[in-house]
Amino acid sequence: MTDSPLGTPQQPLRVAVIGSGPSGFYAAEHLQNQPDLLVQVDMYDRLPTPFGLVRGGVAPDHQKIKSVTRVYDRIAAHPEFRFFGNVELGRDITHADLSAYYHAIIYAVGARTDRRMGIPREYLPGSHSATEFVGWYNAHPDFRSLSFDLSGERAVVVGNGNVAMDLARILASPPDQLATTDIAEHALEALSRSRIREIIVLGRRGPAQAAFTTKELRELGELHDCDVVVDPDEAALDPLSAHQVARAPDRTRDANLEVLARLAARPPAGARRRVVLRFLVSPVEILGNERVEALVVARNELYRGEDGQLRARVTDETETIPVDLVFRAIGYQGIPLPGIPFDALHGVIPNEAGRIRDPVSGDVIRGEYVVGWIKRGPRGIIGTNKPDSQETVEMLLDDLQAGRLGKPEVPPRAVLERLLRERRQDFVSYDDWQVIDMLEQERGQLGQRPRLKFSKVEEMLAALAERKQQADA
Ligand code: NAP
Repeated sequence: MTDSPLGTPQQPLRVAVIGSGPSGFYAAEHLQNQPDLLVQVDMYDRLPTPFGLVRGGVAPDHQKIKSVTRVYDRIAAHPEFRFFGNVELGRDITHADLSAYYHAIIYAVGARTDRRMGIPREYLPGSHSATEFVGWYNAHPDFRSLSFDLSGERAVVVGNGNVAMDLARILASPPDQLATTDIAEHALEALSRSRIREIIVLGRRGPAQAAFTTKELRELGELHDCDVVVDPDEAALDPLSAHQVARAPDRTRDANLEVLARLAARPPAGARRRVVLRFLVSPVEILGNERVEALVVARNELYRGEDGQLRARVTDETETIPVDLVFRAIGYQGIPLPGIPFDALHGVIPNEAGRIRDPVSGDVIRGEYVVGWIKRGPRGIIGTNKPDSQETVEMLLDDLQAGRLGKPEVPPRAVLERLLRERRQDFVSYDDWQVIDMLEQERGQLGQRPRLKFSKVEEMLAALAERKQQADA
């Protein structure tokens, strides 16, 4: 047993980060940035590929946003960093293992599923979550086997956030434009045959409360051969919103309102596709027998809630819209992890500034932390995660300083690697991932695309094994 303090060369601080999306990488980076502290970070992902929603969520036509992975490559190149891909907590490694091998654990698992609308026939064939569709077009292996019937003419996207904008844009984009992106091959093929001509986006509140950002709204207006239709009456502000807008400026909201006013004034050009932006409407019921045939929507009115926020409530006025597909893009939702407290109401791991707190006893759980969407809920862009992860790491460092991490002795790093090899022979290191990355880019070059993603885990592992064999030969 060594008496050296944790974080020294004699006794490095060992931290496991579960999840390899932006929040996990920013947590690792902040640990690495501490002067005079030797930290060994092991990052785990259940997929062989890192980067979470940067790979599986960011729209394929937003390649520039994805270039943030270069920062993550730099973090992963740190000599004390290891990546264990294709290793799942609960399947290949347990909470007890992590507690035995690490001084601290940081959960960075994001929000894996979606919110529900809670309306009749929500699960009829033809009604899907954005999570499924986004995962499918981004080649996420969980969604590879899904199929979407794009043979009808009208789709509805419920929700007014950036995910709704992404969905509407992908559905309305000309296939030849999508063909220059890293969209999944199966999705490109299906979307090339799509007969969807009209995409209606439903906002339950008014234009002044829309959650999307102006860049995403503008992009819709710039799509080739696509009209964006906004009814001037629906774009007009109700008295409560008008009062709010006049009283307190808000850059994004005010810019959104300007763009919407311009779109409302633009006569349709008879384009091949159209996106209709509707406001103050909520779906109340899906109609159909075997599959979605129509959506009943109610007109909403706004009222001021006790917290001062403007909220929507349905009125008696309804309309029935014949539709072929319904996508709910009303927010992601976290799911519980084995052995970790969970706040089911908010879909997050209960925490205080990143320290996990047991909701029953109220006690902080020693050495366990949380970052990203599973900490604060599914809000914010990639960059939001940086200060969020830093806040959590500061708590961890505070606990280290105060001697609250306990259990100074953990087995050497190599022991864990041996254990993992026994349990999961085909775990994927960062070097392995970089081979997969290179193979995907090579495949993409043939079609002048940034990459052609593998969409099945077996495919990735087989291609990796083949390339390694070639290299060894
Ligand atoms: P979001 O921004 O929270 O938007 C959710 C939308 O769904 C809101 O308009 C919300 O309306 C609506 N909604 C919620 N429950 C509803 C219901 N029962 N019926 C009808 N509408 C309902 O969530 P998101 O679009 O999933 O995006 C998640 C985060 O990722 C956001 O921070 C977003 O900016 C970010 N993101 C960014 C990009 C990008 O930068 N390009 C792309 C994708 C996602 P209320 O406002 O009335 O609640």
